[in-house]
Amino acid sequence: MPDASFPEFPYHPDPRGTGFVVESETRCLACGTVRGYIYTGPVFAVEELDEAFCPWCIADGTAAARFDAEFTDVELGVPEDVPSGVTEQIARRGPRTSSAAATADSTSYSDFS
Ligand SMILES: [Zn+2]
Repeated sequence: MPDASFPEFPYHPDPRGTGFVVESETRCLACGTVRGYIYTGPVFAVEELDEAFCPWCIADGTAAARFDAEFTDVELGVPEDVPSGVTEQIARRGPRTSSAAATADSTSYSDFS
């Protein structure tokens, strides 16, 4: 691998290959530094934090700790008490394996949109 200093994501071994991390001059909100890369994957947080963090702050937990955010890389699952906006995002990407499940989901998530 050419870049040994690049952070490792245990559930996402090649974030640049999948486009979850892209080259960017965006300043990271967590460390305040332009690292040359920015994380573009899903962010589950109260605030709008898309493309706000460098991959280093995602990987070491700084972004999650400082902004109370979650990232799909960590595969934490969905807590019961997440804010409705967050739940909505999760609902959109959630599995729809059967019409019964879809009905159950729409009941749970029906109080926004
Ligand atoms: Zn950072």
